Amino acid sequence: MSPERLSTPVYCQLCGRHLVERQVKGELRTRLQCEACGFVHYMNPRVVAAAVVEHKGRVLLQQRAIAPGRGLWTFPGGFLEVGETPEAGALRETREEVGLDVSLGGLLGVYSRPHVGIVLVVYTAESASDAAVVGDGESLSVRWYAPEAIPWPELAFETTAAALRDWLGKRHGGHPE
Ligand SMILES: [Zn+2]
Repeated sequence: MSPERLSTPVYCQLCGRHLVERQVKGELRTRLQCEACGFVHYMNPRVVAAAVVEHKGRVLLQQRAIAPGRGLWTFPGGFLEVGETPEAGALRETREEVGLDVSLGGLLGVYSRPHVGIVLVVYTAESASDAAVVGDGESLSVRWYAPEAIPWPELAFETTAAALRDWLGKRHGGHPE
């Protein structure tokens, strides 16, 4: 698994002066506040939409070309855009990253990495084709894995492993080929 760090802004987005961590009236935790104009910079989690894509019983993983988790494996996914539903985001990311137009099944689960402020919404998906490609430069390679061949020690994030465990559980829970 890969260590991830939350990046914290240093400057005020309104006036450019320094943000300082301090107690703000009426808030239960410290906030980043501008030393000059008083603007409070709230930090809230970001949403990643992703798809566990299956074709003839195998699951598609891509090897990440970028940090965090460079060289490790995960399923297609990325940050949701404003104006986009999680379903549309999962479809878009799958198209961009591995070149496949897939059909979403249902919600596999919601996973989070709270220490870095990331919430993943992960769908199951079926691909009619196995012609996955290395898409947008964010991956080194793509590969279809049989369930017993999933590279558990080389998965990028704990959320990757959690979602794949749930995917395996669903398959054995009444969705035979
Ligand atoms: Zn300011």
